[in-house]
Amino acid sequence: MLTQQQQEKLDWEKTDGMMPVIVQHSVSGEVLMHGYMNPAALEKTLAEGKVTFYSRTKQRLWTKGETSGHFLNVVSITPDCDNDTLLVLANPIGPTCHLGTSSCFSPAAPDWTFLWQLEQLLAERKHADPATSYTAKLYASGTKRIAQKVGEEGVETALAATVNDRHELTNEASDLVYHLLVLLQDQALDMSAVIANLRARHGK
Ligand code: AMP
Ligand code: ZN
Ligand code: ZN
Ligand code: ZN
Repeated sequence: MLTQQQQEKLDWEKTDGMMPVIVQHSVSGEVLMHGYMNPAALEKTLAEGKVTFYSRTKQRLWTKGETSGHFLNVVSITPDCDNDTLLVLANPIGPTCHLGTSSCFSPAAPDWTFLWQLEQLLAERKHADPATSYTAKLYASGTKRIAQKVGEEGVETALAATVNDRHELTNEASDLVYHLLVLLQDQALDMSAVIANLRARHGK
């Protein structure tokens, strides 16, 4: 979270008391929306852990989600290099845009955001009917079967590479990633846990 020292350095004079704020999804990196905070909006955001802007349209403090329930739960707030813009990493509750999309900039989203969206969908499929969903059927077939699929797709991926078939390699790598995501879900894990582990190893 924003430290006292970072807060004191913020250049409110330069921004005429209206700090531009970029809100980004804390896991996928998708840019969700943009707004402005005055000092009171920042205070409220820090106190409540939910993003509050100063709305130029409403001409008052506006907690995103105050009527829709689609709040932006704050994970971190970071000033930029010259203290005239804030980056908020947040966990959104529901769609951020009032038009019903995850981002106000939809459909623009970095490629890797899709992996996170796919992981969310695969998590939901745990509660789906196995008759209507391949993923739900896979969960129902049990951990051993899912693990076996990961093994098979790993071997197929390796074989495609050894014969330099880039088209087949793309297909098999897709199968592998999909089944790996399902296996992680089955074991109550996710890519964030894997990424945290890779990060911890990095530079060791
Ligand atoms: P909410 O803050 O989600 O309860 O929405 C309250 C009102 O704020 C909506 O009726 C819209 O007029 C406006 N609004 C909500 N979300 C956005 C957004 N992402 N960008 C701009 N205006 C928004
Ligand atoms: Zn700047
Ligand atoms: Zn919007
Ligand atoms: Zn395959």
